[in-house]
Amino acid sequence: MTIVDLLHSNGRTRAYRDFLLGRSGVVIDILTYGANTLVKLDGSHQDLPAGVRRWSVHRDDLAVEAVAITEELSAPSYRAGVTGTGSEAVLHAVVLSESTSLCTEPIGPLPISGWSLPFIPASPRACTRCAAP
Ligand SMILES: [Zn+2]
Repeated sequence: MTIVDLLHSNGRTRAYRDFLLGRSGVVIDILTYGANTLVKLDGSHQDLPAGVRRWSVHRDDLAVEAVAITEELSAPSYRAGVTGTGSEAVLHAVVLSESTSLCTEPIGPLPISGWSLPFIPASPRACTRCAAP
């Protein structure tokens, strides 16, 4: 994200307007029912406004390049891995770089190499142990 304005943010943040405008970083939390965000600025420590890396900035003051902030903040996403075939197939949740599912089943490669499907807990074929919160 980039801080493009400071019209809506709180007074403490606005006081550093000249230092904060144009800064980039990442949104690490959503505050006060989604109106404000907690952002973590990029850059070296000496370079930060007042030496502070984390700022509360109103979301309307941000230009967010990456989509779906809330999805990034919630549970990590998993790709689907399959055990069994045909009507016996069960979909498991697998961390992207791993070959073992959350329920510790060893997962074979998907039939179509190079594809990764997201694991959808609500799917009728989803493994109940992987889908449990
Ligand atoms: Zn499973």
